[in-house]
Formats: sequence, structure tokens, C-alpha cells
Amino acid sequence: MVLMTAILELQDVRYQIGNAQILRGIDMDVRAGELLALAGPNGAGKSTLLGVMAGDLKPTGGQALLNGRPVTAVPVRELARRRAVMLQESRLSFGFSVADVVRMGRAALPAGAIEDDAAVAQALEACDALDLADRKFPTLSGGEKARVSFARTLVQEADVLLLDEPTAALDIRHQELVMGLARRQADGGKAVVAVLHDLSLAAAWADRLALMGEGRLVDCGPVAEVATGPQLSALYHHPVGVEPDPVTGVPVVIPRRGVARCPVC
Ligand code: ADP
Ligand code: MG
Repeated sequence: MVLMTAILELQDVRYQIGNAQILRGIDMDVRAGELLALAGPNGAGKSTLLGVMAGDLKPTGGQALLNGRPVTAVPVRELARRRAVMLQESRLSFGFSVADVVRMGRAALPAGAIEDDAAVAQALEACDALDLADRKFPTLSGGEKARVSFARTLVQEADVLLLDEPTAALDIRHQELVMGLARRQADGGKAVVAVLHDLSLAAAWADRLALMGEGRLVDCGPVAEVATGPQLSALYHHPVGVEPDPVTGVPVVIPRRGVARCPVC
């Protein structure tokens, strides 16, 4: 199912802290039924932009609309029904069990939902983390924490999933697992935004790629059009090649090594 309704609309979004302009006027939309990958160098403003989309950060200029309403005006409880957020670093440091951490994702759902052990178990199983259910969350490895945090976003049943580097700590199998699940959420009609550093993962799983640099949106469009060698080389200040996978034809992004200078940066 491909729905092309814009759920999230960013209009000239700016975010400034003191004199530092973190976001410098971002216009983009996120549509139901798509997986949008967000990439760019460290410090480009990706997490800040995700925070604005989530309604956790109020833009200092412009606006972020969720279903046509400023996201910061949506009451907290309703917001929890509308968007699920997976933060770059898990701030859950108390001694909750894994099952409880996932269950908390259902706190804003109608009464009774939080006792839905089957939903929790199903999400953990999908993330290959059911065997961790009784462990204390802080004792997990980084990759295990990431899978549990992702499971938590799944049980929230929100229309919009905002995932900040969901695959950064994962091994290859679990990267593919999580991206496959994110893909399925989009195919089911959700809007999914995932910050990814691995552009080959973005090329394989995303519909569109948004590239950010120094607080600006550099490009946004179908992955094949946006992920080009010259554009990525210029953005990352490192020579990058893009080649089709010999088996699937899907673009693979390859950092070039041993090249003295990037030809375009
Ligand atoms: P990304 O996720 O793309 O790596 P961030 O959105 O986390 O980037 O940060 C963008 C820039 O804003 C970085 O240079 C970061 O240091 C800066 N920044 C983010 N939050 C703050 C803050 N609270 N105070 C000062 N600078 C900040
Ligand atoms: Mg970040």
C-alpha cells in the first residue's frame, strides 16, 4: 500500500542555540507509507531535526506540522499516540526489565493495552530479543539495547516512527532485521524516518534519502537520484563511489581509500 499523504510537514524550520544556528531553514515533508532515510556528516543537525519532528524541540523559526497542526501544540498524551521516537542514546538507566521498557511504549494507548503481554512478546520476538525479556535493561550490550528500544517503538502503534541511528550498534544480521521491520511498518502505511550513516542500508531499504549538511537540507529525493558519488563525496569531504550490487543491482556506497584528494571537494 502506498499512501502519499504528508503526515509531517517542515516549513522553514530553524533552530538556534545562542548564536549557533543548528537548523537553518528546512523544508521537507514525510509521507504515510514511506521510509525516509536521513543522512549527513556528524553535527549536520539530524538529531536536532528529529527532535523537532518529534515535538521534543520547539523550532526557533518556521514550523513543524503533524497532521496539519504544530507538533509542539499537540498534547503530550496524544503525541505519544501519533509518533514513536527511538533516541540515538538510550536514556533509560533505571533498573527496569527489558519487558517493562517495551511495555512502557504502550502507556498512552487505551486502558488495558499496557497489560498486553502478547504485544510485548511479539515485538521482542520480531527484534530477536525475546530471550532478553527478563534481563535488566542497563545490563544489555549496545546492540541489544538498540533492538529493545526499537521493539518499544513498534508496540506504541504510532503513525510516525522517528528512529535516530537505529542500526548504528547492530551487527549485519540485526541491521537487516531492523531495517526489514522498519520497511514493513512503512509498507503498512506508517511514516518512518531513520537517521542512517550506512548509505548502502539507506539505498537498500529507503524510498527517499534526505541529505543534511551544516544545518541545511542539501538534497531530498529517491535514493538513486540523491546518493551519487559526486554529491556524497562533496558532502562528506571524502571520496565516495556508488556502484550497483552485482547480484541485486541496488546501489552500494563505497568509501574510496588511498585516493590522495577528493576530486570534487
Ligand atoms: P547530528 O545528529 O547530525 O550529528 P545534532 O543534531 O546532534 O547533529 O547536532 C547538530 C549540531 O548542533 C552539532 O554541532 C551539535 O554540537 C550542536 N548542538 C546540538 N545540541 C546542542 C546544544 N544543546 N547546545 C549547543 N550545541 C548543540
Ligand atoms: Mg545525531
